[in-house]
Amino acid sequence: MAHRAALERAAALAIEYLERVRERPVGRPADVAALRAALGGPLPEGPTDPAAVIDALARAADPGIVASQGPRYFGFVIGGALPAAVAADWLVSAWDQNAGLSVAAPAAAVVEEVAARWLVELFGLPPGASVGFATGATMASFTALAAARHAVLRRTGWDVEEHGLSGAPALNVVVREGVHATNLAAVQLLGLGRGRVHRVVADEQGRMRPDALRDLLADQGGPTIVCAQAGDVNTGAFDPLGDVCDAAAARGAWVHVDGAIGLWAAASPALRSHLAGCERADSWTTDGHKWLNVPYDSGLVFVRDALAHRTAMSVAAPYLATSADERDPSLFVPETSRRARGFGVYAALRSLGRRGVADLVERCCALARRLAERLRAGGAEIVNDVVLNQVLVRFPAPASADADAFQREVIRRVQADGTCWLGGTTWRGAAALRVSVSNWSTTEADVDRSADAILRCAREAT
Ligand SMILES: *Cc1c(COP(=O)(O)O)cnc(C)c1O
Repeated sequence: MAHRAALERAAALAIEYLERVRERPVGRPADVAALRAALGGPLPEGPTDPAAVIDALARAADPGIVASQGPRYFGFVIGGALPAAVAADWLVSAWDQNAGLSVAAPAAAVVEEVAARWLVELFGLPPGASVGFATGATMASFTALAAARHAVLRRTGWDVEEHGLSGAPALNVVVREGVHATNLAAVQLLGLGRGRVHRVVADEQGRMRPDALRDLLADQGGPTIVCAQAGDVNTGAFDPLGDVCDAAAARGAWVHVDGAIGLWAAASPALRSHLAGCERADSWTTDGHKWLNVPYDSGLVFVRDALAHRTAMSVAAPYLATSADERDPSLFVPETSRRARGFGVYAALRSLGRRGVADLVERCCALARRLAERLRAGGAEIVNDVVLNQVLVRFPAPASADADAFQREVIRRVQADGTCWLGGTTWRGAAALRVSVSNWSTTEADVDRSADAILRCAREAT
């Protein structure tokens, strides 16, 4: 079998990698020039044996592989990948299904249908909501806001898919201060103008202030989309979604909830209250590849008005679907030919079960609190209320040092140390270390070891 040698080689290399990733230095800066030299050179003139390609590729790439699959990678909001999800992803490649159309990939279409239903239920969203499996939350938000653009303009009698935005009624997009940049990317791609958004004031945790939203909406007429967020990327804080939906409903505005991180709180009885009112919004996005720990690319979009969703994404009229009885995955995302993304989500959900998802989310939050406590005990300031899995940290700087530069120096040392990896941010005008605990395999021992390393780096920077 032509595939056997290459696949067996890949499996052996992958297993070896995953068995060692726990102890691999986490994200030491890579030597990009060395990577270019190892991986580069001219396009080969002739063929190479597939297994030899895999071997050479793995060897050359290794120094540039960041151990974000490991338990002590706290940068951005990354998450690892669950065993069942990685294995399902291998099969997706082996099957090589074009999951755009049910007729070309019926199992992929049905798996999406099933996983979509599980997710709608898990998140407590309206049972009729339509679901798209996108590349990530950025394209999921793009899709949701395209549906929003369609719906709010249709109410004015304008067909934006047919006529575009030239001559259309002005459309207001409302975000809050500190909105995730990818929401603005979606606004930009949809021709709504990044610079035209209205920004609502946020409180000290970054939450949208509902009084400010009400005031802003009171001054505005016309079609309006409000972008709220469940889980701030810095603080983990949730916008008050019930109040946001009330304010929007009073003006007939569409509410979109970017829940890339925070929508997963719905899976936990202990955390669900953060999302009170969420189900009253019009569209929602989240990521599978972050907290659900599914391999990339896995973003998810949910839209209450399924017809708006399909109309905004369809390349043809909605009634041209292949069959009333089949669900074509491409109707709910911008792409046509596409990877069978549902399998990873399905495998992750099936391997965890409802309780496992809740445990994963609650465990990460408990570990974030543990890390915060240990750092605080070691003299650090915890800048945010640790309500979810995000922790912002500042260290007292020596009198002689610039306080922000000192935080950046601690970050640099932590990254070079390799015990764990975290990044930095600017929060309310001040530099801070930013920690996200979103990996299924992180343990208390990992957190303690990381806290020790961070405190040591801060001492050494003094
Ligand atoms: C990560 C993130 C996004 C973007 O998601 P991608 O999957 O990277 O496209 C959007 N919003 C929030 C709050 C995020 O954390």
